[in-house]
Amino acid sequence: MAKTKEDVLRLAREHDVKFVRLQFTDIFGILKNVSLPVEQLEKALNGEMMFDGSSIDGFARIEESDMYLRPDPDTFVIFPWRPQDGAVARLICDIYNPDGTPFEGDPRNVLKRAIKEAEDMGYTMYVGPELEFFLFLTDAEGKATTITHDKAGYFDMTPIDLGENARRDMVMTLEQMGFEIEASHHEVAAGQHEIDFKYSNALDVADKIMTFKFVVRTIAQRHGLHATFMPKPIFGIAGSGMHTNMSLFKDGSNAFYDPSTEDQLSQEAKYYIGGLLKHVRSFAAITNPTVNSYKRLVPGYEAPCYIAWSCSNRSPLIRIPAKRGASTRVELRSPDPSCNPYLSLAVCLKAGLDGIKNQINPPAPTDENIYHMDAARRAEKGIDNLPSSLIEAIEELEKNEIVKEALGEHVAERYTSAKREEWDSFRISVHQWELDEYLVKY
Ligand code: GLU
Ligand code: MG
Ligand code: MG
Repeated sequence: MAKTKEDVLRLAREHDVKFVRLQFTDIFGILKNVSLPVEQLEKALNGEMMFDGSSIDGFARIEESDMYLRPDPDTFVIFPWRPQDGAVARLICDIYNPDGTPFEGDPRNVLKRAIKEAEDMGYTMYVGPELEFFLFLTDAEGKATTITHDKAGYFDMTPIDLGENARRDMVMTLEQMGFEIEASHHEVAAGQHEIDFKYSNALDVADKIMTFKFVVRTIAQRHGLHATFMPKPIFGIAGSGMHTNMSLFKDGSNAFYDPSTEDQLSQEAKYYIGGLLKHVRSFAAITNPTVNSYKRLVPGYEAPCYIAWSCSNRSPLIRIPAKRGASTRVELRSPDPSCNPYLSLAVCLKAGLDGIKNQINPPAPTDENIYHMDAARRAEKGIDNLPSSLIEAIEELEKNEIVKEALGEHVAERYTSAKREEWDSFRISVHQWELDEYLVKY
């Protein structure tokens, strides 16, 4: 049952809370917070806490900088790693304009708009994300290195998996914060890990992804390690994805499941896949938002680079895991954990709904390993590529009305102009690769 303002005040008293952090996420997926002494909690719960929106990247101009935080009582949780007498709790907030309207540039509001559109069509979106990350050693000054602390691989265990203690601590902390953890394991690359939590509705999952990332980083730090959700920290080994499993429920049952068809997928599931495939090049700038994201989307590391779907193999962009019934779902494999989860889920949902509204049938599934097909064979099968760079992705986004509508004008404009700057800064920098390649040769 949803918590009320009174529940939060009572819980804060019962748990001897001394500080409350009000959290929200900027459009680039960075978690922000302000800490209040508990005496201010009631005022905060009434939505009276103001902040300067012009100091948050991509939010507001100086002239319209006053914004209000409205905490969502359901997100109240205590930080288990902080002292428990005089505890620290947090609340995730929506952002409002001084006139009481929701702020258009608030990513949580962007996702709420997409959810509302799905609800108007009778659907509830459920999401199960799979977050991968690396644990690296820190140096004598406590700064992050790219030295992996172990030599383990997929599903390995101690003594070679030195991340085991840190991971155990992460899982227990997340559980104390209300996560239902389904599995945690060492991933393919040395130093790479994955922790999976149970699927839930889209808003809850986006909130949980933000919480997950900061908890994992905090606990890693307590073990003298640096956790990174950067998509491809090391060339030549696997990168980190955030595979996104999605389903739509209608009238309490899974609308993607239809036992009467050969593959037991409903027509709605097919259209949803059709919509994702149609728009994926245009929403890549959201699901894969950094220069580095495109270094993960290359052949050979279980990350997608070709636009296709399959019920079996792991090389395509979309995989349909074998489970059917209530668990029938579409696994989109392109998103990476550097994305803003609110925006990412909003654009995915919007693309899928567009598929349903416009009855976009996907092409036939591709069951052969696409990494092994040559360009001619891919062309013959009509298999296109994902964008190969951030700039290509931004240009695609700017041409796509559905993705821009999902983001809203404010976010679409601020986001693309900031990402163009990011690209330019990368483009004009001189990288180590160039020095290695040219310094001596020329
Ligand atoms: N690390 C791979 C990626 O970048 C995914 C591995 C897996 O299938 O879990 O997407
Ligand atoms: Mg994985
Ligand atoms: Mg997966």
